Amino acid sequence: MCTPPVPKAPPMSAPQNAPPLVPGLYVVATPIGNLADITLRALAVLAGVDQIACEDTRHSKTLLTHHGIRTPAFAAHMHNEAAAAERIVRLISEGQRIALVSDAGTPGISDPGAVIVAAVRDAGLPVVPIPGASALACALSGSGLPPGAVTFVGFLPAKAAARRKALDALGSCPGSLVFYEAPHRVIETVVDMATALGGLRSCLVARELTKRFETLHQLPLGETADWLQGDPDRQRGEFVLVIGPADDANPTATDADRLMRVLLEELPPNQAARLAAKATGLGRQTLYQRALQLKPGAPEGE
Ligand code: SAM
Repeated sequence: MCTPPVPKAPPMSAPQNAPPLVPGLYVVATPIGNLADITLRALAVLAGVDQIACEDTRHSKTLLTHHGIRTPAFAAHMHNEAAAAERIVRLISEGQRIALVSDAGTPGISDPGAVIVAAVRDAGLPVVPIPGASALACALSGSGLPPGAVTFVGFLPAKAAARRKALDALGSCPGSLVFYEAPHRVIETVVDMATALGGLRSCLVARELTKRFETLHQLPLGETADWLQGDPDRQRGEFVLVIGPADDANPTATDADRLMRVLLEELPPNQAARLAAKATGLGRQTLYQRALQLKPGAPEGE
């Protein structure tokens, strides 16, 4: 259950006793849903800088107005990032303090920001990250997975063949894997993940974090597609998928594919999938989708 947002704040100015902000770029993390999830330091910086570069000024206005911040804002998004970077370097060189915010969470994490940060650093000017919310850290903190290696993948390619290739390459990656995914692709993605990574690995579906319909549900990867399909509401909103580490007992994609190829020589896809599910513990639906790809006569490259 997420906490309710704080009430709207009165107009805010930089705190009187805070040390003055030096000219530079302040990379400020903002909430990923709940407007209360912003640090005191972030609010002081947003109120104290000369201008705020926003991925979308209208979107950020909701947050800034909510917290009573009236600092002027301009647009810095993926379509104008190079020009925005030039402008920001010039403004900082002239002595301005500029904050950079994205629509949600931490700029530069599956969001624009890297071009601007690199340009400011290359110009020898200060870059000051102001930490805060990120869907990555939020989902990981609620996963209960053992500490250790974590690979943040972000968004997989949208096209099926490229996505499967990327997932195959991640099969040997040690530790946990964290993905961002859009609601309209989440089912096909978890089907491909189960095939490539192994259906017994754990999958945390972290949906609508910090928002009203926040859901954290952990289950074997091979069962995740069926679970998502069990209720249309489970497929709505924003998703982080956290895949737990592989373990030695976990049938890999290669094992499952090898078995399915043999079964498909004699059986139709649904029967091959049923038997392979029994043998490997992977989800039947996942294996059926894979059987359709592997059956003799299926298009090449699947
Ligand atoms: N910069 C952001 C961060 O620090 O997490 C990520 C921005 S990226 C464009 C947006 C993606 O992050 C969404 O498609 C979703 O995968 C994930 N995301 C953002 N907010 C989320 C939330 N409240 N719950 C679950 N996932 C979220």
